[in-house]
Amino acid sequence: MTTSTSGRAAPERRFDLAIIGGGIVGCAIARELSRYDLDTVLIERAADVGFGTSKANSGIIHAGHHAAIGSLKGRLEWAGNRMWGALAEELGISFDRVGDLTVAFDADEVAILRELCERAEERGVTGVEMWGQARVQDEEPALSDEVLAAVHGPTAGVVNPYEACFALADDAVANGVTLQLDALVTGIARTSGGFSVGTTRGEFGADVIVNAAGLAADRVEAMVGLETFRLTGRKGEEYLLDKRLRGMVKRIIFPCPTPTSKGILVIPTFDGTLMVGPTAHPAGDRDDTTTTADGAREVFESVQRLVPGISAGDCIAEFAGVRAVTDTGDFVVGATEVPGFVNAAGIQSPGLTAAPAIAELIRDDLVAHGLDLRRKERWVAPSLPPTPMRSSDRTEQIERSAADPAFGRVICRCELVTEGEVVDAIERGGHTLDGIKFRTRAGMGRCQGSFCTWRVMELIASELGMPIAEVTKRGGGSWMVLDRDQFHDERSGEPVEVGVSP
Ligand SMILES: Cc1cc2nc3c(=O)[nH]c(=O)nc-3n(C[C@H](O)[C@H](O)[C@H](O)COP(=O)(O)OP(=O)(O)OC[C@H]3O[C@@H](n4cnc5c(N)ncnc54)[C@H](O)[C@@H]3O)c2cc1C
Repeated sequence: MTTSTSGRAAPERRFDLAIIGGGIVGCAIARELSRYDLDTVLIERAADVGFGTSKANSGIIHAGHHAAIGSLKGRLEWAGNRMWGALAEELGISFDRVGDLTVAFDADEVAILRELCERAEERGVTGVEMWGQARVQDEEPALSDEVLAAVHGPTAGVVNPYEACFALADDAVANGVTLQLDALVTGIARTSGGFSVGTTRGEFGADVIVNAAGLAADRVEAMVGLETFRLTGRKGEEYLLDKRLRGMVKRIIFPCPTPTSKGILVIPTFDGTLMVGPTAHPAGDRDDTTTTADGAREVFESVQRLVPGISAGDCIAEFAGVRAVTDTGDFVVGATEVPGFVNAAGIQSPGLTAAPAIAELIRDDLVAHGLDLRRKERWVAPSLPPTPMRSSDRTEQIERSAADPAFGRVICRCELVTEGEVVDAIERGGHTLDGIKFRTRAGMGRCQGSFCTWRVMELIASELGMPIAEVTKRGGGSWMVLDRDQFHDERSGEPVEVGVSP
């Protein structure tokens, strides 16, 4: 099955529903609505789904007690949390309820932790309890011995967010949703039947629009003449640590929260790598995903107070994501005064956690506003992705590589990804280096792609029949070969064409 359907949707084609933005929110909405008899298009400007904020976050399914009582994001955090177990099982994606600990260093912080416990009780979040110093040290010996107490939230979990986006989109496409990638929405005109959505890939007619455009949701709203919220970007830098620190902490470690931030965390990711971050600072430019020396200093100073054994020298990779923050500080979900134009906007943290609950809220909102949703008689169950070779047992590895020798040829040595798995990821829609990296983990390990990048590029070029010089990191102009016109075979001096290695 493929999610890469660039160019599939014909210009002027009419849909019942257009979802703008293929992040975790748009993908979850597309998948939820694919259960109903609707002709839906999911329009994404990037080369793949999940390439916006949804790929650049902490990957935490928050426990349910972190966001304030009375807020929509608080309600949807807990509702979403409870959906992720079943959802991950249905989609066959990584998810582990590792739990979290929010720690206190002094009596004032202990008082704040008590408020967290009260919030959990009021919201009905299960299992949240305060642990004393001895229990904390016993359960998490790498934590600073100055930690006095901690709140344990057993419902917190970790996922690979990009994997979730791909799986949701694959499932939606398998159930009839048209996915239009590489299509920037540039304007929306109101027509007698609804809307005409202008994109860089042609026009799409739609009766209803769901605006899930993340950091551009205010601009998309403005296209129908609305200005119901103001959006600013808040950047978060994250740092991935070497796998030798695997197991140093078992749970997600939070400092005591402040009124404006959950703080800088230590996160045991699903794949075993520890991650530390994120920072939270206003982003002048919403597309600014650079990391900075100041950010690194802030992150490592903060987390060393929590877990003294962590060092900046263990960092193998870094990235930043930008949260879409509204002036109300809350999510903006639901119908607007423009009939048929619905917002799923301002989805800052915990938007990953809340995404499946946001999708249900949008569905209910559409019904409340008169959309006739009839459940399909037949809804195709997800086709589960194959188990990675690195986590298959020895017998299975031998059997698979005997059946297809490409599964015996390791391409990424750090993460043990085979050629067969890269080819499979290309067949499932990956057509950029990041698309393959996020589907297989090739290039995510200690050497950060030093060994496998070229080989993955060769496979993309040969499988898709394209010149190797046209392979990009993440679509658009993110070429891997900069001097493309001058790209020649080192030995013959001839220009390199379709998928031929120099
Ligand atoms: C550093 C950081 C850490 C975080 N950690 C967590 C966490 O641990 N747990 C959690 O629950 N949440 C977390 N979040 C929040 C979470 O990542 C977001 O809430 C979530 O990803 C938002 O998803 P989205 O689909 O709304 O936005 P996006 O993922 O940004 O998707 C919007 C999509 O719309 C597309 N788009 C925009 N404009 C157009 C246009 N004109 N035409 C077509 N397409 C368009 C974009 O390309 C993009 O793909 C974190 C966020 C950050 C930045």
